[in-house]
Amino acid sequence: MAARIVDGKRVAAAMRAEIRERIQGLRRDNRGVPGLAVVRVGDDPASAAYVRSKAKACQEVGIAAREIGFPGFVPHDELVAHLEALNRDAAVHGILVQLPLPPHLDERAVLETVDPVKDVDGFTYANIGRLVENRARFVPCTPAGILELLDREKIEIAGRRAVVVGRSEIVGKPTAMLLLHRHATVTICHSRTADLAAETRRADILIAAAGRPRLITGSMVTPGAAIVDVGITRVGGRLVGDVDFDSVAPVASAVTPVPGGVGPMTVAMLLRNTLRAFEMGLGLGPAERSA
Ligand code: NDP
Repeated sequence: MAARIVDGKRVAAAMRAEIRERIQGLRRDNRGVPGLAVVRVGDDPASAAYVRSKAKACQEVGIAAREIGFPGFVPHDELVAHLEALNRDAAVHGILVQLPLPPHLDERAVLETVDPVKDVDGFTYANIGRLVENRARFVPCTPAGILELLDREKIEIAGRRAVVVGRSEIVGKPTAMLLLHRHATVTICHSRTADLAAETRRADILIAAAGRPRLITGSMVTPGAAIVDVGITRVGGRLVGDVDFDSVAPVASAVTPVPGGVGPMTVAMLLRNTLRAFEMGLGLGPAERSA
């Protein structure tokens, strides 16, 4: 059996088209334009590239994106004061702080400054708490993108065994929580897991989010499993996932490629969360909201 290759680029493009159409409709009704502020500290080239791609995606769908760059040595209080001003700014519906921050800044304290109703990354304690209770306001973008891909590919979740490799706050834990809410039986693996292959072989749905190139090989996968590769590592100028595609694809039923799998979905979910923040600000309830 050869796995279906899940085209995240195509799915993300379809989502962007839906979001653009919704924003155009709101504009036609004179409801205004969603605004996203992206805050970046320092001059890390990878962060700068991510921020650029997010700004471009915003522009394409009609979200007004504002990039606010600070030097790497910005004092904590100055950064916090800017975030507080963005909280008050009526033209800004979503605020994103590009991580990681330089070590002199207290990342948690900075994130907690963001008003939870503008926290489109879903990283504030208020939004994490809501996610745990299955009453999410904003689901972190990569986990949300993973679930959206599974849904749009019609991969059944309820009642199935899901194994998540990785337990970070940004990817592993929230993804496991979402799968649990959707009634999967979830196992979370990490660097201290005694026998990783024994765990992954039990998975009907395997989410690889360890950041270890080609960690998951064909012999670690049960025939017919659906595999989502979240990992991105630059190896010799190329982006490499956590899944050894060549050995896994003949065994699995579906597999997401790197690049072109989860990555584009992450950006699409940021756009969706920003639209959601905007619609919440307009007082549109879940029934009238688009996504
Ligand atoms: P972290 O480094 O924060 O977490 C990695 C997790 O993997 C940790 O829980 C770690 O365990 C676990 N791990 C590491 N090595 C192994 C191993 N050999 N076996 C089992 N578990 C292991 O990374 P992130 O969660 O932030 O990101 C994971 C990957 O996803 C990265 O490659 C990142 O670049 C990518 N990513 C991709 C995105 C996209 O849009 N496609 C978005 C965000 C991230 P322990 O806790 O014990 O240390």
